[in-house]
Amino acid sequence: MKKILITGAAGFLGSHLCDRFIKEGFHVVGMDNLITGDIKNIEHLFPLENFEYYHHDVTKFVHVPSKLDYILHFASPASPIDYLKIPIQTLKVGALGTHNLLGLAKEKKARILIASTSEIYGDPLVHPQSEDYYGNVNTIGPRGVYDEAKRFQESITMAYHRFHGLDTRIVRIFNTYGPRMRLNDGRVVPAFMGQALRGDDLTIFGDGSQTRSFCYVDDQIEGIYRLLFSNFTEPVNIGNPHEISIKEFAEEIIKLTGINQRIIYKPLPQNDPLQRQPDITRAKEVLGWEPKVKREEGLKIVYDYFKSLSPEDLQKKEHRDFSQPTTP
Ligand code: NAD
Ligand code: UDP
Repeated sequence: MKKILITGAAGFLGSHLCDRFIKEGFHVVGMDNLITGDIKNIEHLFPLENFEYYHHDVTKFVHVPSKLDYILHFASPASPIDYLKIPIQTLKVGALGTHNLLGLAKEKKARILIASTSEIYGDPLVHPQSEDYYGNVNTIGPRGVYDEAKRFQESITMAYHRFHGLDTRIVRIFNTYGPRMRLNDGRVVPAFMGQALRGDDLTIFGDGSQTRSFCYVDDQIEGIYRLLFSNFTEPVNIGNPHEISIKEFAEEIIKLTGINQRIIYKPLPQNDPLQRQPDITRAKEVLGWEPKVKREEGLKIVYDYFKSLSPEDLQKKEHRDFSQPTTP
């Protein structure tokens, strides 16, 4: 049985990856320190013989006693609100964490795929963004802690590939949404849906003319799965190219929920990218991949998921308390 280590396993994407690899017959080792994740996302896997969970901070030396065939490095805060609150941990998990996992991959002779992001393009001056665009990032701005950690992550991964001949893959993930996102993680899909369910005003940052392109989680997982088993070692964008302004998106949420909320405007956060849309030509050519789930369909699934949460979860507007220790 092939064995795969998934870091960030209790997070949104990590937990869906655990499900997918279990379904494909792998032995899955999930690793997380729960700083932004939730153990409930993977609890259903605990009774399985081919699932193991390690509570561990990957910025510390990572030890897995047995063989490993594959590593997926998905540990990292991913919401702008999260990484603004824990900037040092964000830099460390992208830099030191990635270094540890590359070292582990080398030791185990495992193939490693790392989760990069559209944020490496910063506030892009080229639109849509294809993989050969180098980006426009403010290194010292508030988002720099995430963007630069991810850029370093790509560089060190390519260095291990070129210098040590390590078998590496890099996915550049564009805004992805789906069940198991934290309702209060601040990202726009849970933010708007939480506001709708509580009957609060929808908060648009800036004038809402900034654009994003939202990919449903099942499509994202399929793209990552295909990339892992391809022979392609350059970065690949995985995202849905269907672009929408945040204002139009807020209107779609109002229509979907049938709740007639007021929209209020708040200041645009510093360096919030004004436009974002993946060019997925490479993913189509190399992986034969393109997204299948329409936004309308995907949003309905995730809205039903948020509706099914307990009233206590729904009322938790406050952001997570990051002062708790994350390493046992
Ligand atoms: P998430 O916050 O739900 O999951 C991240 C997980 O990593 C959490 O469970 C967290 O506890 C864990 N983690 C963080 N630091 C850790 C550490 N030092 N040691 C061990 N575990 C640690 O976020 P997500 O949306 O699932 O994102 C997962 C990955 O995908 C991240 O690398 C993120 O940068 C990337 N990504 C996601 C998106 C998206 O739209 N969801 C977009 C671009 C990139
Ligand atoms: N946004 C917003 N209202 C919110 C949360 C987010 O208008 O309550 C905007 C945010 O400013 C950004 C877009 O929605 O322009 C997407 O934000 P998100 O935090 O989901 O991720 P980003 O793509 O910025 O990393």
